[in-house]
Amino acid sequence: MSLPHIQLHPEVKSLLAKSFCQNKSEDADVNEKFVSLLKWLGVPPAYTTLRMNTRCCPVDNIIQQLDSVLQQQCRERKMEVFEMFQHPALKDCVVISNRGDNTMLQPVEKEVIVDFLCGMSVLRGADVFIQGIMGAPTSMQKGDMVSVYSDVDGLCRKGFTQTFRDNKVFVGNGITQISREDLFCSAKSLSGVGITMTQPLYEAPVLTDVLPNLVFAQNLPSIVCSHVLDPQPGEIILDMCAAPGGKTIHIATLMDNRGRVVAFDKTSQKVQKVLDNASRWGVTCVQAYCFDARKAVDISADVSGAPPYPRATFDRILLDAPCSALGQRPASRNRLKVNDLLSYPRYQRKLFYSAVELLRPGGVLVYSTCTVTLDENEGQVAWALETFPCLSLVKQKMHLGGPGFPGSDLKKDDLHLVQRFDPSALSLSETATCDTDTIGFFIAKFIKK
Ligand code: SAM
Repeated sequence: MSLPHIQLHPEVKSLLAKSFCQNKSEDADVNEKFVSLLKWLGVPPAYTTLRMNTRCCPVDNIIQQLDSVLQQQCRERKMEVFEMFQHPALKDCVVISNRGDNTMLQPVEKEVIVDFLCGMSVLRGADVFIQGIMGAPTSMQKGDMVSVYSDVDGLCRKGFTQTFRDNKVFVGNGITQISREDLFCSAKSLSGVGITMTQPLYEAPVLTDVLPNLVFAQNLPSIVCSHVLDPQPGEIILDMCAAPGGKTIHIATLMDNRGRVVAFDKTSQKVQKVLDNASRWGVTCVQAYCFDARKAVDISADVSGAPPYPRATFDRILLDAPCSALGQRPASRNRLKVNDLLSYPRYQRKLFYSAVELLRPGGVLVYSTCTVTLDENEGQVAWALETFPCLSLVKQKMHLGGPGFPGSDLKKDDLHLVQRFDPSALSLSETATCDTDTIGFFIAKFIKK
């Protein structure tokens, strides 16, 4: 069993193909680089990366503790132990080599349908949580071996009992921790693991509740991103689009919890997530607000309290922009329509205006996305350089990705200043490493003159 290529809306597919044609055919189905992208977006990265809480504990000690927890987990699940190593350049990152795909694995008779997000989490090592289960056979008892399928188009109704005939993807086999009756007929609200994935299609460590104050699962390019920002103790930093706060707490950690990290997100529940993450990580210099970052500038405002803020308030700003998220892996489908895709660059530009105003002269602005389109990445950098003469694009000290793509208005030399993590390059590279087999991601760093 293998995973299918990602499915995209046809118009999105052809628009996206243009970013990848690079002077070759613009026909999406024959463009080698683009077909490679669709293939790699459908499968999970071959590595799990975790950021370590270097403020709390020496790195060697964290790796040792992690190793012993994961060895125990592998013994319980009768899996081979995972290879684990400290990243050679990112000293606060531990890398674990996953395994898959397990082409010999066969589905069993009883099938359970889980929602799309749950299915994708299983492919990155998670067990199935009760809330993610959509359909299960009436005969399902606690302790049964079942096959788990992800509901690609979100069509399965909660409590479905038949064989699901719509678009589904097999993600592995596991042991149920609950009967169907208790699952769907219980009056109590249930939570916790519903299926322990003993034979996942892709094997990766289960990270739920593993050393929660010491390790944080984060994609490698996201870890790189905060290092590129290079926050210093004592500074005042703005994380404009912060939730769930992976980068916010990384920034606070790099500052040794000294200074002030202001974090915005426009959704209040998500802001709570940032605060929860900061508290579990033991950083107190984070102030998180539910606020629209596009409206964050007010010349008469006070620097010390809640937003808005006057111009030139911040030493460094991270604009980890809302984006089309087409770099996320694994994804067997993306429901984005072409109008949504086209709306992102406009929205990101509004955030850029606020960022440039709020940054002090001499300050650093990092712009990043987890998508692969030219318009949201290189195109946006070219627009920013044209629109804000006060910005210069600068070299990134932590540079593990490849150069930017040609095809936008960004100058050739500038393509080497930005970094692109490009899953489409995987088929062409000799050996995938933890620096290349990642989600699609883009980082640009500016200084305000
Ligand atoms: N930086 C985050 C991290 O590393 O965990 C991920 C951020 S995610 C790419 C983008 C976030 O921007 C979403 O949580 C979304 O709610 C938020 N967002 C979108 N528009 C916003 C706005 N106008 N102001 C503030 N936050 C916004």
